[in-house]
Amino acid sequence: MTASAPLGSLAKPWDAIIIGAGAAGLFCAGVAGQRGLRVLVLDHAKTIGEKIRISGGGHCNFTNLHSNSENFLSLNPHFVKGPLARYTPADFVGLVKRHRIAFHEKHRGQLFCDGSARAIIDLLQHECAKGGVTLRHPVSVDAIRRDGDLWHVWTTSGSENSHALVLATGGLPVPALGATDFGLAVAKQFSVPVVPPRPALVPLALTAQALAPFGELSGLAVPVILSAGFARQRYGRARFEEDLLITHKGLSGPAMLQASSYWQEGEALELAWLSEVRWEALASDESQRLKNVEGVLSRALPQRLATVLCQMAGISGKRWAEVGKKDRSRLTQLLTRWSVKPAGTLGWKKAEVMLGGVDTRALDSRSLMVRGQPGLHFIGECVDVTGHLGGHNFQWAWASGFACAQALEARAV
Ligand SMILES: Cc1cc2nc3c(=O)[nH]c(=O)nc-3n(C[C@H](O)[C@H](O)[C@H](O)COP(=O)(O)OP(=O)(O)OC[C@H]3O[C@@H](n4cnc5c(N)ncnc54)[C@H](O)[C@@H]3O)c2cc1C
Repeated sequence: MTASAPLGSLAKPWDAIIIGAGAAGLFCAGVAGQRGLRVLVLDHAKTIGEKIRISGGGHCNFTNLHSNSENFLSLNPHFVKGPLARYTPADFVGLVKRHRIAFHEKHRGQLFCDGSARAIIDLLQHECAKGGVTLRHPVSVDAIRRDGDLWHVWTTSGSENSHALVLATGGLPVPALGATDFGLAVAKQFSVPVVPPRPALVPLALTAQALAPFGELSGLAVPVILSAGFARQRYGRARFEEDLLITHKGLSGPAMLQASSYWQEGEALELAWLSEVRWEALASDESQRLKNVEGVLSRALPQRLATVLCQMAGISGKRWAEVGKKDRSRLTQLLTRWSVKPAGTLGWKKAEVMLGGVDTRALDSRSLMVRGQPGLHFIGECVDVTGHLGGHNFQWAWASGFACAQALEARAV
C-alpha cells in the first residue's frame, strides 16, 4: 500500500478523504460536509450501501433505543461510551423523522423501517448532497502515503491529497458484497495494532453426530436460554433469552447469532430449552403423573421437539410416574443445561459482523484518530467494536462516524 509514482493531482487538498461509502463513511461524510469541510468519499463498489440494503431482512434495523456500552464487545469496553453518548439513538431517530421515513419498534427497542432499507441509503446520500460531499465509485485505492501534514491517495481515477484520511471500509462479512480487509491492511501499513478478526453474529454448525437427533426438526424455532463464553475469557460470559432456529447444518436464530460472538472454537455452549423454574413447575405437577413424558413436555415445548428430547434422554413412551430418579436427573440436565459443542461457524459468508479489528487502544475516542498518526481515523465496523444483534451495529456506525466528523478540521488554503 505504498507508491513511488509521482502525484498526478496538485489540486487543493481535501479536508478529508473517506474510504468506504457504507453506513459509517456516508454518515461521517454528510456531517463533516455540513460543517463546511471539503469531503471526498471513495468506494470500490459499483452500487453503494449494499449492506444497508440487505440489513434487517430488507427493512434495516437502523438503531436500538436501548443501545449502550453493554451491547458491545471490545477489548477496550469503555471506548464506546464517549461516541455513544455524543450521538444517541434518539439523535438518529430525529434524523429519520426529519426524512419522513416511517418506522416501527419490533422487539426490545429494535427500530426498523416500515418500508425498504433503501430509505436509509437515500437519507445518507441526501445528507451528503446537503454537505456538498463528492462521492466517487467504483474507484479502487492503489496506494496510500503520508507526507508531512498531507495524506496522498492513489486511485484508479487519479491521485488525491487530503489533510485527513478516514478508513470506513467495514468488516469481512459477505465478501460477495465487496467486503475487504482494506482497513486492516492500512492499519498494518501504519503500524496500528489490530485485534485478529473473527466472524460474529453467525450461525454455528453442529457435528453430524450432534445434529442427527434434530434431523427432522430443521426449520423449527423455539425460545431458549443460551449461554456462551467463560467469565475469564476475552469478552466474558453472556446469556441470551431469544429464539433458536434449528437448521439442516446446525443452530441459528437470534439466540445462536448472539451467542456466537462470545463462542470460541472447541468450547461448549449451555442451552436451556426451558428455564429451571418452568421445568420444576411442570415436573412437580401431580396431575401429570399418569401422562406420558412426551405429553408432559409438550405442554411447554413444540411436540416434535418434546419427542426428540425424550428419545435423547432414553425415556420415550414412559409415563411420568414411571421415570426413575436417574432418568429424571438426566432429563433435567438435558432440558435446562444441555451442553453442546459446535463444530464451527458458517464463516464470513453467513456472518453479519466482524469481531476484532483496529485496536481501540490505539485510537482517541473523541475523534477516532490514531494516536501518533495525525489525520488518520478508523470508524465503523473495521474498529474492534462489535454490537449485539438488534440495531447496535448501525448505532456504532452513526456514533463513530459522528465523533470523527466533529473532530475533522476545515483548513483554509
Ligand atoms: C445480512 C446482514 C444484515 C445486517 N443487518 C443489520 C441490522 O439490521 N442492523 C444493524 O445494526 N446491523 C446490521 N448488519 C451489520 C451492519 O450492516 C454493519 O455493521 C454496518 O454496515 C457497518 O457499517 P460500515 O460503514 O462500517 O461498513 P459497511 O456498511 O460494510 O461499508 C463499508 C464500505 O466500504 C467499501 N469498501 C470495502 N473495501 C473497500 C476497498 N478496498 N476500497 C474501497 N471501498 C471499500 C464497501 O464497498 C462498503 O461500501 C447486518 C449485516 C449483514 C451482513
